[in-house]
Amino acid sequence: MYVDVICSGDAVPRNGQLLSTCIINEHIAIDAGALGTMVPAATQDRVSDIFLSHCHMDHVMSLPFFLEQRDLVKNAVPTIHAHAACIDALHKHFFNDLIWPDLGRIEREEGVQFCRFEDLAVGATATCHGVQVTSLQLSHTVPTFGFLVSDSSAVVAFISDTEYSPSWVQVLNRLPKLTGVFLECTFPTRLQWLAEKSKHMTPDDTARFMRQWDGDLPRIIINHAKPNLLSEVQSELEAALDGPFEMLKTGQRYEFG
Ligand SMILES: [Zn+2]
Ligand SMILES: [Zn+2]
Repeated sequence: MYVDVICSGDAVPRNGQLLSTCIINEHIAIDAGALGTMVPAATQDRVSDIFLSHCHMDHVMSLPFFLEQRDLVKNAVPTIHAHAACIDALHKHFFNDLIWPDLGRIEREEGVQFCRFEDLAVGATATCHGVQVTSLQLSHTVPTFGFLVSDSSAVVAFISDTEYSPSWVQVLNRLPKLTGVFLECTFPTRLQWLAEKSKHMTPDDTARFMRQWDGDLPRIIINHAKPNLLSEVQSELEAALDGPFEMLKTGQRYEFG
């Protein structure tokens, strides 16, 4: 399995991540923070399915530009898979004829289709291009999914955004084989209060994740650290963790299996 981690833009260094987007096997996107702005149009055209973790801006921001650039004569209508609450929020607060044109209204009036929104239930699996994507309930300030992504070669989990919760850790730990985890760690420990208010993880939580893991740990790649706090988070993780981990590098292809 190939996972391309998309750069956020020139505002942050190469390994900094302000906006979340990964592309799996060139066809499936996890989140659309940077999909429509930082991915070449020809590469965007190959993406047929987008799975949104939740409705926060850093995960959905470039969706209008992705849809705007898509040539629907040459390419299939893309499917956007998300929690019903996320789809509802996009309709109410984003595609509302105020922040961006109401695509649903234009579709109804003109008999065209820009995209297909697909409700994804907790624990449901969608299959596209030989890849299974299963949603996993996380614990954030809005309904949020993690994703378990598997193909014939690997099983990789995408865990962001969330606070630490034994429920999703147990689901991951019970999987018969888990090759890798992109695991969020947003704030350093001195900002534990902010992590708790905004339901994110700190290095203490990552250490707890590793301590409570039963058996061999999968490959751990830390993502979603705030770019201006990245080195602080990394130093704390190096001090706190017994097991190996990597800090996410954007603009890089990760290979699993
Ligand atoms: Zn969030
Ligand atoms: Zn986020």
